[in-house]
Amino acid sequence: MRQYNGRGRRRGIYVGPGAVLLLLAVVAVVALAALALRGCGAEAPPAGGDDAAADSGGQDGAAGQDGEDAPPEVVTTASGASCTLMDLGEEAIYTGELILVNNSTFFHFPENQELVSVYEEKNDSYYVGGTNVYLAPAAMDALNAMLADFTAQGGSKSVNVVAGHRTEEFQQHLFDQSAERNGLEHARQYVAQPGGSEHHTGYALDLNIYHSDGTSAEYDGTGEYAWINENCQNYGLVVRYATDKADITGIADEPWHFRYVGIPHATQMVKEGLCLEEYIDYLKDFTAQGKHLMIQCVSGAYEVWYAEGSAIYLPDSGEYTVSGNNVDGLIVTCKVG
Ligand SMILES: [Zn+2]
Repeated sequence: MRQYNGRGRRRGIYVGPGAVLLLLAVVAVVALAALALRGCGAEAPPAGGDDAAADSGGQDGAAGQDGEDAPPEVVTTASGASCTLMDLGEEAIYTGELILVNNSTFFHFPENQELVSVYEEKNDSYYVGGTNVYLAPAAMDALNAMLADFTAQGGSKSVNVVAGHRTEEFQQHLFDQSAERNGLEHARQYVAQPGGSEHHTGYALDLNIYHSDGTSAEYDGTGEYAWINENCQNYGLVVRYATDKADITGIADEPWHFRYVGIPHATQMVKEGLCLEEYIDYLKDFTAQGKHLMIQCVSGAYEVWYAEGSAIYLPDSGEYTVSGNNVDGLIVTCKVG
């Protein structure tokens, strides 16, 4: 059973005094692991590299085999933040705003998922298709901000949010319904499999158009609505499925389907012209001990790095978020300005 919280809010992760003991324990474990692995033989590549965990026999590349090559417990980022190696557990890889979900990378359904009702939380600048549309809190905030600005700059009140979070059972229903109407092959081609829909995450939403005369129309992101598709990254949303990426995403042009990834990453995805499948790979070039990704966007400046596995360097202080990629590792997004 999903948990629908009426007033769930965004959760930032901050390292406070209570975390220091945990931090010290993790440091001790990592140090012991490094000692235990000393003298095991071949040189291990640095943690966070492409082959970090390949031969180490250790977890996630967190400890090298040679004491001198073991990753330090503390590193300093390009912008001067002191960071400590922490293991967040495997579940963290499957959670967060950057998780990739598609027909080959299924969503890991959690016991509880924080969702809010669009019907209850929406502002007056748009419509919602019913009382049963739910989103993750961060996606809800982004939607409200984007559509308030859309109407403020002259857009009409005609956007209708028709889909948000979907359960596994509902996606199965949609798949079966399509197979019944159009055949199994058609369903496999056009409908995400249960577990493979980005809507499971609560970070995806679909729009259509609702006219004041009661008629509705497909949302195609053109005309006055082009403003939304051209500016959505400034609110943390991306147009997830574009025609020129269909061979990578497996989904044809869907100008009505938006995905929340946060403002810095949405900005960088648009700047680099990458879909989420490509972006997850792109982020692997930026590790805590290697070069970091620096992003400038409307909400400020950010420093970003990736680590394979569940152990990652986290800033000792300051504002940052951690997200899994739902494939093999974690991404830290640290506000630096
Ligand atoms: Zn959709």
